[in-house]
Amino acid sequence: MKFPVEQILNLPDMKVLDFQELEGEEIIITIEKSVNYSTCPWCGQMTHSIHQNHWRIIHDLPWNKKPVLLKINRRQFKCHKCKKVFSEQLDCVDKSGSSGSFMVFIRIDLILITYNLVISMPIR
Ligand SMILES: [Zn+2]
Repeated sequence: MKFPVEQILNLPDMKVLDFQELEGEEIIITIEKSVNYSTCPWCGQMTHSIHQNHWRIIHDLPWNKKPVLLKINRRQFKCHKCKKVFSEQLDCVDKSGSSGSFMVFIRIDLILITYNLVISMPIR
């Protein structure tokens, strides 16, 4: 069953790669940034060269007694101009820390999915 997660995640710069609800276990949402480039923080050059993928798991509060895990890819890019390797900026994670509004978005959205509400609601 395919859930329209990205449409109601309220995170326009992220794309959902995978959404799994394991029977009797946990919910795993796999996301990464939807653009395939990043800007070098040292020299400002835009690069498309992905150096490495760095998967990071964030534990959300349980939803419906099930643990919710967010699997986020923070990619490392290599700048061709200054040859430095850097990690991309993930605003939704960096700004909210480990338990900020991002988690609230996810949890509310999961509830919306359950009730099959596809109406776009402003969640604050
Ligand atoms: Zn650079």
